Amino acid sequence: MKTKALEIVKSQQLKAKPSAGVPFGTTFTDHMFIMDYEEENGWHDARITPYSPLTLDPAAMIFHYGQTIFEGLKAYRTEDDRILLFRPEKNFERLNLSGERLSIPPVDEEQVLEYLKTLIELEKDWVPTAPGHSLYIRPFIIATEPNLAVSPSKTYRMMILLSPVGPYFPGGLKPVTIHVEQEFTRAVKGGTGMAKTAGNYSSGYQAQAGAKKAGNADVLWLDGIEKRYIEEVGSMNIFFKVNGEIVTPALSGSILKGVTRMSIIEVLKSWDVPVTERRIAIDELYDLYEKGLVEEAFGTGTAAVISPVGELNWGDKKMVFNNHEIGEVSQKLYDTITGIQTGRRPDDFNWTV
Ligand code: PMP
Repeated sequence: MKTKALEIVKSQQLKAKPSAGVPFGTTFTDHMFIMDYEEENGWHDARITPYSPLTLDPAAMIFHYGQTIFEGLKAYRTEDDRILLFRPEKNFERLNLSGERLSIPPVDEEQVLEYLKTLIELEKDWVPTAPGHSLYIRPFIIATEPNLAVSPSKTYRMMILLSPVGPYFPGGLKPVTIHVEQEFTRAVKGGTGMAKTAGNYSSGYQAQAGAKKAGNADVLWLDGIEKRYIEEVGSMNIFFKVNGEIVTPALSGSILKGVTRMSIIEVLKSWDVPVTERRIAIDELYDLYEKGLVEEAFGTGTAAVISPVGELNWGDKKMVFNNHEIGEVSQKLYDTITGIQTGRRPDDFNWTV
């Protein structure tokens, strides 16, 4: 597809590239992508500009009612120096799904992907070469109309930022301890749980702080009504290996449709490993655990790809999976997905761009 007119203003002063080990999301490349929306013109004025602060009216609706959506994906450098994106069309598809829920006008998914490729081409020296490193991509849209009325904004801005990041587990995969949250709720069916929108994240901080204080890395959210059915972990979907079968919560409307999740389901199917998307109650999981049937647990997401779960703390009950060691399926999935992402393995699924 041809890129529609995209103005590029290059930065006169390029920044020094960071050394390895910068904390996630704290360093940004020299340029960013911007595009604006008004009802009369639709999305227009797509441009790449030097990375810089924004000037926004303090009454801009984003500041008051949280009308905003975002995405997260990565670009990886291959050993033969190509730059790969992993299923980026799925992220822009999800951006528009989130937008629908937040009353934000849709973008042209194919066009925006072309803009992203142009931005990455311009910033290609920022895609890290060190193993496990990548360039994190953050597309987002904010409501910009200066108006305190509680109604959808008439104007929006879409931006894409690029940020070099190191591996999620610098020392290699490491099983984490997770707290099963019983007081707070992330999302309910009919709410915004399936959308990638700011409020879903900041509303989790209080529970996460409590969990961390007690020595856990994150929380496992349960459904908001019965506080019984397993949903997802922090910024990851969750999977269990139960008696040889892989089980993950079905997309109920309150869970994010993870790109890693859908890829893992497809990989498992290609291996003829039974995989089921269904409701799983925490008490059912505990019963299965007591019977010795829960063999592995792992989270999946863009950040870590696979994060083995070594321990779940549910009230006064503790479940330890695979003796706090990395499970066989977790490791194999991690090697397969990261192998495809970085071009070390053949991309039999045609996922990389
Ligand atoms: N759940 C939530 C709430 C998330 O924020 C993420 C990260 N985008 C995921 C799951 C995993 O999604 P993905 O595999 O697309 O990164």
